[in-house]
Amino acid sequence: MGSFLSEKSLIIGLLLAACVFLVAGLGLLFAVPYWGFERLHPLLPQVAGIFFVVLLTTLLSGFGLLIVSILLGRDVPFSALLRHMSAKVLLPLLILVGRLVGVSKKAVQHAFVNVNNELVLAWVRSRRKPRHVLLLMPHCLQFSQCPVRVTFHVDNCKRCGQCPIAELLEIKERYGIHLAVATGGTMARRIVTETRPDLIVAVACERDLVSGIQDTLPLPVYGIFNERPHGPCVDTRVPLEEVRAVLTSLMETNQERP
Ligand code: SF4
Repeated sequence: MGSFLSEKSLIIGLLLAACVFLVAGLGLLFAVPYWGFERLHPLLPQVAGIFFVVLLTTLLSGFGLLIVSILLGRDVPFSALLRHMSAKVLLPLLILVGRLVGVSKKAVQHAFVNVNNELVLAWVRSRRKPRHVLLLMPHCLQFSQCPVRVTFHVDNCKRCGQCPIAELLEIKERYGIHLAVATGGTMARRIVTETRPDLIVAVACERDLVSGIQDTLPLPVYGIFNERPHGPCVDTRVPLEEVRAVLTSLMETNQERP
């Protein structure tokens, strides 16, 4: 809880720093040619001024709404657009600002995924129960010595219990959701196209979760970090209790569809 609060503070701090950089940058962009505009047309400085004010107001309103949503954990107007904007535009900006103030890319990505999860939960809570949930797992979760092929057909698993796939199958049956194992981004995208979920709960490392969130927009993706006791990409683990808790929260706290 404490670390999540500090991640919220990190994202909000970086957002505020980005605001300062944006205001300064746009101010400079406007001020430098401003005096030259007048020579082209006497009304051009006013037109350019209005353009920059509208642009700045839009950007700062977006940042403001995002900060309110992060702080309150509630859905806000234009939240789908805000999620889109934060994943595509804001995250690269926050990574850049983070680099300038000495915060690692991985730390920003970690905080971003957690904040994105809050936005997704708030978005789902304000709507009806999702119909088709896809639980998307990375292939490195499977026991590396297992001879069974579970990509595409996860039901091939013999449920020997050597890796989390057996328990994930139980979770899939309990919640009536779709479970898939992907070997990479291309396969993940193909699974999403074929299963057409309205919500994805994905397990992966920071980098893959961020690219998954960006690739599947506007679909909401709730990201859970995998555990890597044997290093990256081999025999990774998944916090199953967290998966169950998230699914319970997503599936049971909403009103039923008529
Ligand atoms: S639980 Fe399934 S996937 Fe995992 S090692 Fe056993 S048979 Fe293979």
